[in-house]
Amino acid sequence: MGCSVAYRLAKDGARVTVLERSIPGAEASSAAAGILGPAVESFDDALALQLGRRSRELHATLAEELDEQFGIDVGFRRCGVLKVAFGEAELAELDEQAERLRVQGVRADRWSAETLVREEPACNREALGALSIPEDGQVEPKKLLSAVALGAEREGVTFRTGSTVRAVNATGRRVRGVQLTDEALDGDRVVVAAGSWTTLIPGLPYDTETIFPVRGQMVTTQTRPPLFRRVVFGAGGYVVTRPDGRVLCGSTMERVGFQRGTTFGGMADVIGKATRIAPSLSTASIESHWSSFRPGTPDGLPLVGETHIEGLFVASGHYRNGILLAPLTAELVAAAMSGEVASREAQALSPRRFEEQGA
Ligand SMILES: Cc1cc2nc3c(=O)[nH]c(=O)nc-3n(C[C@H](O)[C@H](O)[C@H](O)COP(=O)(O)OP(=O)(O)OC[C@H]3O[C@@H](n4cnc5c(N)ncnc54)[C@H](O)[C@@H]3O)c2cc1C
Repeated sequence: MGCSVAYRLAKDGARVTVLERSIPGAEASSAAAGILGPAVESFDDALALQLGRRSRELHATLAEELDEQFGIDVGFRRCGVLKVAFGEAELAELDEQAERLRVQGVRADRWSAETLVREEPACNREALGALSIPEDGQVEPKKLLSAVALGAEREGVTFRTGSTVRAVNATGRRVRGVQLTDEALDGDRVVVAAGSWTTLIPGLPYDTETIFPVRGQMVTTQTRPPLFRRVVFGAGGYVVTRPDGRVLCGSTMERVGFQRGTTFGGMADVIGKATRIAPSLSTASIESHWSSFRPGTPDGLPLVGETHIEGLFVASGHYRNGILLAPLTAELVAAAMSGEVASREAQALSPRRFEEQGA
């Protein structure tokens, strides 16, 4: 989020410094599967669906721009996303989801079990059918991160890695900059984009429960030929196939604070879901596994925009969809900084909704 916002602001001519305690991408943004799936993630929330679809289209433009300017292919592919059903109840849910999506103007096709097996032969033959969303897709988060960071640097952004922000400094209701370990840095605008750690930074008008960590564990393998053409959700998990045959399986949703690592229980859960979707994975060897922290919020929507402290912005709390929503977030922060009147969506994401009266 920090790199995306910095890149966008620098393109507008702002002088930007990124302060990162580790290196860009050290946390959730490199751990993500890179699914751009607003329809599966947000079929029951019209606002989140609309934001996700807009951001997915911004990804298409951004991918083209990064390829043209820096020759980096960030792996943006409109490969389509499937949700498969095991059992009659899940099948009925798919029908309902398809209808809701169509009402919102999203193309969503209901597939029979026969169509599913024909289109994705590696899918479990016990699946009764699927919902296909052809416009959704994926991007490769690590490639995206390095391209956006490179873009930001080319636009003049200064990166100070190994710089931990200890506090946001303000005088009354006006931001003054930030406090680092050994120095105070002045700035008339500060954007806090510290993911799950955002509300731990002193000086923000939120309690620590406004943004909280939700651990997610992932497992990867390789298959030849590539397992699926599409991203496949099912059995409470998902399987993402890259064009080179790499397969990413996810994920757990755990409220365990900032406890790092992968666990026996977490791996069993993720592998169980993935092999239910694609039984052939049970003989695949594990290539790697990791975990990271999604920044969750009480209402499931991110905090994007200016706080009651003038010049202090937040771009955080994107939970399961931070890769998807990064380009839109950058646009919204840029618009808020340039003093544009906030749209209805921007108002809904305003961080001020969590500020205490008089804070
Ligand atoms: C397993 C998993 C799978 C996911 N899959 C998807 C997916 O398929 N699609 C999708 O859209 N989203 C996905 N997500 C969600 C997505 O990864 C996050 O929403 C997004 O990466 C959050 O980005 P961020 O920049 O806010 O946080 P982060 O990427 O965590 O970055 C926060 C940064 O702030 C730095 N920082 C923290 N505190 C300080 C401080 N005091 N001073 C300086 N620096 C600090 C950290 O070092 C870190 O680099 C997934 C997440 C997980 C964990």
